[in-house]
Amino acid sequence: MTGVQEPGRLARLRGAARELAVPLREVAPAVDRDPSVLPELVRSGRLPWREFSGLPAAHHTAPIRVGDRSTAADSCVEQAVVWEEMARADAGVALGLPGPAMSGFMIAELADAEQRERYYGLLASDRPVWTFFGMTEPSHGSDPASMGTALRPDATGSLALTGTKRFIGNGARAEIGVVFARRAPGPLGLTAVLVDTARPGFDARPLDTVGLRGLELSELRIAELPVAEEDVLGRHLRASRRGMWAAVRTFNRFRPLVATLALGVAQAAHEYAEQTLRPTPRAFHRYAAHEFAGRLAGVRAMVAAAALAADHGAASGAAASAAKLHATRLAEELTQRAVAALGPGARFDHPLLDKWVRDARAFEFMEGTSNIQRLNLAQGYLQERDRRAVAA
Ligand SMILES: Cc1cc2nc3c(=O)[nH]c(=O)nc-3n(C[C@H](O)[C@H](O)[C@H](O)COP(=O)(O)OP(=O)(O)OC[C@H]3O[C@@H](n4cnc5c(N)ncnc54)[C@H](O)[C@@H]3O)c2cc1C
Repeated sequence: MTGVQEPGRLARLRGAARELAVPLREVAPAVDRDPSVLPELVRSGRLPWREFSGLPAAHHTAPIRVGDRSTAADSCVEQAVVWEEMARADAGVALGLPGPAMSGFMIAELADAEQRERYYGLLASDRPVWTFFGMTEPSHGSDPASMGTALRPDATGSLALTGTKRFIGNGARAEIGVVFARRAPGPLGLTAVLVDTARPGFDARPLDTVGLRGLELSELRIAELPVAEEDVLGRHLRASRRGMWAAVRTFNRFRPLVATLALGVAQAAHEYAEQTLRPTPRAFHRYAAHEFAGRLAGVRAMVAAAALAADHGAASGAAASAAKLHATRLAEELTQRAVAALGPGARFDHPLLDKWVRDARAFEFMEGTSNIQRLNLAQGYLQERDRRAVAA
């Protein structure tokens, strides 16, 4: 049940995605124990990675179909439904699957025809290909303007990339990805580079993490990695449409999907808690199932509104920030209340619930912390107020 009546096509898409996602839950405990087993599970054919790859229609060999129509990779509304169902099965495994993920949004914003062909040609090959999106650095997460990674000429005058990126999803598994670097001082000096991880100067190592372990957050150490002008994304666009501008648009489009992932974890934990606690009325009462059912439906409506706004090219991303803020809070509160209602030892006795508590916490940091979402919301409010004042 989703709580709010969905249009027929989306409801059918949800049903198809839910069925397809079942194997993600089956492998979740093994991947949580040791994330390095995931690539082998993918290669073994046990997981529906092709269907969930999110590749654009021209490169997709196995899109999820509803009736005679394929799922649209560029429809945030449809992807929000699919991603919630993937996360309901397991968010760590879902995020650890091969495919374009966040770097794909940067390609959509910035790549020229040759770069698009290079990127999607590789991703559409027969074998699974992982990608990464490299923005965060050891001392610069919420504040990318202070980025230390640099793109500058080396001793021979050719471009070279140097810097360290941390908490990069799938970084150590990836063959290709997008790295942000400073090329010049000032707000327009940030640029994005398409990086082939087989090049000399690229080194990636998995980090030991607690939540969403299937995503295998990694540290990238990049030293004098050779870069050609053809690797620089957005080189055919004017300076104000490259680097941070494209990153902000990417965040605005990706954030509803992060919100829907947190929602999927909350939904999974809710179903588990309801089923486990129902035989003990006092514990069931402590969990407050009705309150959470209402909040799940409310957050799902916020995610749908944010996804629709993203599909309509919303400039501010305020709806996406509101959805992410509420989805993260719901996932954290719901999983913790379920643990409290189950009583002492619950996290030992219910390993899935223990995993969902850890996964829910990870969403707080992914794609901007709650404080950063609050800043976005305040900014969105002020912009809207100014716009109305000018229009009046
Ligand atoms: C599961 C997961 C996946 C991730 N995937 C990626 C990825 O693929 N690629 C990538 O580049 N990064 C990724 N990240 C990193 C993520 O984007 C950063 O963790 C996040 O931006 C926060 O940065 P930070 O950890 O450096 O925290 P900091 O920026 O140091 O923040 C620390 C604290 O200070 C607060 N704070 C910071 N600035 C302000 C402010 N101006 N006002 C009020 N409070 C503030 C924050 O809210 C937070 O509570 C991922 C992280 C996680 C957990």
